[in-house]
Amino acid sequence: MARAISYSSCSHRIHRRNIPHFQANHNHHSCVVMPYLVRENLFIGNIGDAAEILQNGSSEITHILSILSSVSISFFTEWRSSLSIPSKEIKKVYVGRPDGGSGSEDDSGDGSKSSLSPEKLLYSLENAGKDLKLVRMAVPIRDMESEDLLDYLDVCLDFIDRSRKEGSVLVHCFAGVSRSAAIITAYLMKTEQLSSEDALESLRQSCESVCPNDGFLEQLKMFEEMGFKVDHTSTIYKRFRLKVLGDCYNRGEKIDSSKFGADPGLPVEVSSGMEVSPNGRGTPAYRCKKCRRVVALQENVVDHIPGEGENSFEWHKRRSGSRFNKSDESECSSIFVEPLRWMTAVEEGALEGKLSCAHCEARLGYFNWSGIQCSCGSWITPAFQLHKSRVDISSV
Ligand SMILES: [Zn+2]
Ligand SMILES: [Zn+2]
Repeated sequence: MARAISYSSCSHRIHRRNIPHFQANHNHHSCVVMPYLVRENLFIGNIGDAAEILQNGSSEITHILSILSSVSISFFTEWRSSLSIPSKEIKKVYVGRPDGGSGSEDDSGDGSKSSLSPEKLLYSLENAGKDLKLVRMAVPIRDMESEDLLDYLDVCLDFIDRSRKEGSVLVHCFAGVSRSAAIITAYLMKTEQLSSEDALESLRQSCESVCPNDGFLEQLKMFEEMGFKVDHTSTIYKRFRLKVLGDCYNRGEKIDSSKFGADPGLPVEVSSGMEVSPNGRGTPAYRCKKCRRVVALQENVVDHIPGEGENSFEWHKRRSGSRFNKSDESECSSIFVEPLRWMTAVEEGALEGKLSCAHCEARLGYFNWSGIQCSCGSWITPAFQLHKSRVDISSV
């Protein structure tokens, strides 16, 4: 079989890559293999493009961002057994855990505030390829609509940004169509302040085959509405986190309290041994009416728009389309919160059940993974509901 020659020997890189036929066949031809140029020092490609550069080096590409189902370099050998690519690990970074002190730029934060499980691998960083000259970051993302893209955006966009300052970066997934395109679209949105549609359209000018899956498009829309950042305190993100958790439940995965919010009723130990309230004094808190135990903080509340039939994932689409008067008549009789660690009934795996106070066992509300309709008419799915008549609001 004829070997592909290095893309760097081709002087017609950009023009030739605009011919779809060429792209479709390039793995089977002896023709030039090379990624598409998106912006200065930024390329998009598929696994074949990455393999070529990792094996033979590149005069231009210095960094590779691999978005594959596995971060392991052996993925390339599994894909094509003739490939064996040297690599040397720099570091691995897990969700909710500091990265060992090297480089303070990685702030993955409190695992409980991310949709990803604590201890899940966020990315790996290594030197790879010929003479270990390339820097490769790999993130584990599958091309599925239910896949969490948002929680990887910060680390991916930072990597692209730094790589472009030091050299040129290839962002690739398997086909170069969905995952890599979604990441680059987010990058263009953030750096050029573009809507998700405009950013994707701009990317299509460079590579017309790009097509992020619908779940990724929804998340890019959320990224736009959060102001081109992943804001863990926003209602948009909280709804997304609930949706991800609901998907886990529906797939039959075990739901454990590590994915729940901290119990605001428990004091936290600080290093001095003093007991303090965990989450900022003076913030509004909901207490059990009977025993006064704190059961939720304002930050645990996931807002909804009164009177609108809604779906957590499509919430943003309907925000401006209410036909209801949002004032008095649609006053909600419940608040909906993220699942919290005192809700032990939720961990038992039932589809629905009562939520009882962790201290006095008074009934406070109900949960249902399939959703609950608020008195205002809105459907919240999944729902962790506290009746306003059973709780008082006050400051912590
Ligand atoms: Zn309501
Ligand atoms: Zn109570």
